Amino acid sequence: MKTIGLLGGMSWESSAVYYQLINEGVKARLVKTHSAQSMMYSVEFDEIAKLQHAGNWKQLTQIMLDAAKKIENGGADFLVICTNTMHKMVPEMEARLSIPILHIADATAEKILEKGIKKIALLGTNFTMTQDFYRGRLEEMHHLEVIIPNEADREIVHNIIYQELILGTILDDSRKKYQEIIHKLQQQGAEGVILGCTEIPLLIQQKDSPIPIFDTTKIHAEKAVDFALSI
Ligand code: GLU
Repeated sequence: MKTIGLLGGMSWESSAVYYQLINEGVKARLVKTHSAQSMMYSVEFDEIAKLQHAGNWKQLTQIMLDAAKKIENGGADFLVICTNTMHKMVPEMEARLSIPILHIADATAEKILEKGIKKIALLGTNFTMTQDFYRGRLEEMHHLEVIIPNEADREIVHNIIYQELILGTILDDSRKKYQEIIHKLQQQGAEGVILGCTEIPLLIQQKDSPIPIFDTTKIHAEKAVDFALSI
């Protein structure tokens, strides 16, 4: 079994879910007392969130590189970055690491395409919804048509992530707001919705959405298990 290197803490609320899912995944595949061989480096998220909102991606890239190097030096066979947003610096990280990175958007696109879906809505942080590193990858590499909420709705989605979900605060009122936004995106033709922030699945499950959801935390964790168990 390969050793899974998890770069977590963004936030720890979703990293804890990753940890649980990879262990459950290995146990389900190998039964009995088996568990995932893994290591996690978990960052201080307050510093990360401040730098993100200040637009200091240069310093963030350095923090991500340093953390990934520690994981690589610790003996991980591949890297799982436990957040969608921080995939922004994957190109710089790939250039400096010798272990592969399992990209969350690629794993998600694979699942969407398996369902025959072409037009997909994307929810996540404002960075993920509007910048090219994620949306562009889905469109250019995977030929999906990606739609995002309007500006006011993007603010709602973003603020609920940073002010509630990363703190583990799950509110019915916020769930309703997300549901209204998903409904609008469905009316614009979305055949499914990417929960493109690893904390959104703490708020929204399939029963809350009229269209198929793509839970990036679950999809990414499953991909990590597949890769860890592959020869
Ligand atoms: N976990 C979130 C994501 O998947 C947001 C936190 C972060 O900015 O990394 O994008």
